[in-house]
Formats: sequence, structure tokens, C-alpha cells
Amino acid sequence: MATQISTGTSELRDITKMERIGAHSHIRGLGLDDRLEPRANSQGMVGQAKARKAAGMILRLVQEGRIAGRAMLFAGPPSTGKTAIALGMAQNLGPDVPFTMIAASEVFSLSMSKTEALTQAFRRSIGVRIKEETELIEGEVVEMQIDRSLTGATKTGKLTIKTTDMETIYELGSKMIDAMAKEKVTAGDVIAIDKTSGKVSKLGRSFARSRDYDAMGADCPEGEIQKRKDVVHTVSLHEIDVINSRTQGFLALFAGDTGEIKPELRNQINTKVAEWREEGKAEIIPGVLFIDEVHMLDIECFSYLNRALENELAPLVIMASNRGMAPIRGTKIRSPHGLPVDLLDRVLIVSTKPYTAADIEEIIKIRCDEEDVKLTDEALKVLTTMGGQTTLRYALNLISTSQMLARKRKSDKVDVDDLRRSYTYFMDEKRSVEWIKMQEGSLIFEEIQPEGGRGEEMDVS
Ligand code: ATP
Repeated sequence: MATQISTGTSELRDITKMERIGAHSHIRGLGLDDRLEPRANSQGMVGQAKARKAAGMILRLVQEGRIAGRAMLFAGPPSTGKTAIALGMAQNLGPDVPFTMIAASEVFSLSMSKTEALTQAFRRSIGVRIKEETELIEGEVVEMQIDRSLTGATKTGKLTIKTTDMETIYELGSKMIDAMAKEKVTAGDVIAIDKTSGKVSKLGRSFARSRDYDAMGADCPEGEIQKRKDVVHTVSLHEIDVINSRTQGFLALFAGDTGEIKPELRNQINTKVAEWREEGKAEIIPGVLFIDEVHMLDIECFSYLNRALENELAPLVIMASNRGMAPIRGTKIRSPHGLPVDLLDRVLIVSTKPYTAADIEEIIKIRCDEEDVKLTDEALKVLTTMGGQTTLRYALNLISTSQMLARKRKSDKVDVDDLRRSYTYFMDEKRSVEWIKMQEGSLIFEEIQPEGGRGEEMDVS
């Protein structure tokens, strides 16, 4: 069963993630101290102290491996930092813990069933840390003989390596020869060769190294120096699924188009991973699945979530919603945040609150630093007021548009007038709604079907 995958996948996923988090690029963590107390302004985070502390407590449980299969919900008005806090959690978890971010609506737009899309998101959020042993040969190069009459894959050669008192000869494959040529290895170099990957690293020249050996005294290795080294790869369960899927193959990972994966295959992989765990070859790392706009999921997805959270291999699921009482999609029932009560019951709810003017001002300053924009003092005051009256996100969006206007008049500082002009070009939500009302029928409106539409309605009583 293949387990090694190229880093290409994570790059691909990083790019998608980057696009989505551009507005949050200033967030570098939750900004908490060791006692999980929120610092006033740290790691790009300001205000929202209670929610950040709650997030930090949950993070600690994740790090202790005690929270797999649990769920939490960030509930609060738009632009109050729900996504920002979730991303702060991801940053604090570190790169080895999988963090998957989806918007609930994506589940409906992919070319696969809703439950398959959710299953893939779940399995992307479970990491498998696989340990592999590899041998490392270390020593001083006495002589290298390469058979130059042979080329390409058949290239062979001999390497004589001297350790303290012995000389050992290795037959070299073409991979190692290429690696040595790249590193320009010559006699007298002290090198290390990773026998699995063929990677060659120069450690220095023999003189310095011999001295090191002397200093090592009794620990000085005898004969050939062969060390066993653990190499650790972390892959997600989903990546293992795709690599082993006969219809997909690992190339699908690069295209991102993985299609549906058969449940039998997933069962086989679960069994295999369980075996590796027993043998001490693998470790499971439950990660985090963040589902934004969770009220956009429907009743089938919610019942899937309820079941999936019971599974032994479940990540921490973080949801976010800016809805109050809202219909549960696919039903006629209204419920807090549009979530069924049985799911709500198992969820830890953390609320986020509108920001104070002082917080808004600090966040604007952070974003200006991040985007390399200078505001005059007066403009900062005006933008802060705008943030309070519209939304924080609207105010943050005006930073770059106003900078463009400032540049046009050849100024490197955004002034109140740039903001005023930006404000007339781009509407905030409230003005947009008013404008729509003023159009009195001159716009085309789609007729809105009742939620779920006829025939799709389900009775969940
Ligand atoms: P919505 O309900 O509309 O999805 P949200 O609650 O997820 O909104 P965010 O997208 O997290 O809101 O926040 C809006 C913007 O403000 C983002 O650019 C975010 O990075 C920034 N922001 C929000 N809260 C904070 C904070 N506490 N510190 C620093 N930046 C913040």
C-alpha cells in the first residue's frame, strides 16, 4: 500500500487555502499567553477576548488528543472574527496538524454527493504520521570510481569510505552517483548518504571530522558508520484513499479532482492504518475541520455530521454561523443558527460580539501594516467610525481601494477624501439594500422558492 506522497499536493491545497484566507493574512495565532489569557494585541489578534480564550482551551484539548469527534460552533454577527479565530487556531496547531477549511455551500457545488464531499473533508482533517526507518551511511570519501562507459539508469560505481580505522566499499547506484556529482563530492570529503532517498550531504572535510571522532572517544563508531534514522511523513487519510484508489491514482491529487471513493476501499485503509498503529509504525493525528456558513448545510448533511462525529477517526469540527433563528435547510423547521437541536446539543457554542471602536481601530492599523498602506490620523478616525456603522469587513475592504485612489493623486498616504470617494464607489450592505428598494422593479428578481422547494421538504418531527 503506497503511503509516500509528493509534497505537490500540499502545495496545491495551500494555494487554494491562501486564496481564501487573503483577508486574514495578518492572523498568526490566537494571541494568548501560556495561561491562555488573551493578550490585548498579539499575533494579529485584537479584542474578542472571551471567544479567543475559549478557542485556546479547546486547542489545548486538541493538542492533548482529547477532543477528536467533538464539535464547536462560533456564532455571532457578520465580521466579528469567527473565521479569523478559527484560522488563529490552525496557526497555533502548527503545520503538522491537518486543518481543512470549507464553506458549507461547497458541499453542494462539487461533482459528487454531499455526503462524499463531507467524508472527504473529514478524512482530509485526519493526519497519519508514518514512521519509516532509513539507513544513513557516514564516512570520509577515500576514492570514487564511476564507470563512465555506462550512462543513465545503469550508471554504476564504487565508493570507498573510510571511517576511523577501516575502509568500506559501497556499490553505487546511478541515483547516488548523480547526487554525489551534484554535491561535487571529492576524496577527503566527509559525507552522509541516505540509503532510501539517495540524498547526499557534505558534512565537512576529513581533517575537521577526524578531530571530532577523537573527541568522541569511546563513542567513536567502528567500521562503517551506519545509523538508523526515523523519517516521518504526515499524510491525511484522504491522501491515502486517493493514492490507493484504482480509478483515481495519485495524479488526481494534483488535479484536485478526486471523484468518489468506494466505501470498501476506505474500510481497507482504516484496517491497514489500524495495523500500522498496532505495530507502532503510524500515529493518528486528529486535526480540525472548519465549516464556514454552516447554516447552508441541509438536514441530510447534518444527520451525516451527527453520525460521522461518533466515528473513532473523527477530527474536531468547528462550525461558524452568523444566523440567529433560521430554517434548517430541507425542512420547514426553524432552529437556532439553522442547526438541528440534536446537533446543537453536542456542540460547544462560543459567541462572538461586535467590536468596540478601539478594537476596530487596532484591527484597521494591523491591516494597514499588512497591506503596506499609510493612513492620515484623520482618515484612521473616519475609517474606524465607518467600521462601526457598517461592518469591520467593509472598512477593511476600503483600505486597498482608497490606497489606489491616493496613488492616483500621487500621494503615499490615504486621506479622508480618498475614503469618501471609495465610499461612493463601493456600497456597503445597508446602502445596497436601500438602493435595491429604490429601483422599484427596474431590476430583474428571481422568484424565491420556499426553502427546500416542494417535494424536497422533509418532516423531521
Ligand atoms: P462572517 O459571519 O461574515 O463570515 P466572520 O465573523 O467570519 O464574518 P471574519 O471574516 O473573521 O468575520 O472577520 C472580518 C475581517 O476582520 C477579516 O479580515 C478578519 O481577519 C478581521 N478580524 C476579525 N476579527 C479580528 C480580530 N479579533 N483581530 C484581528 N482581525 C480580525
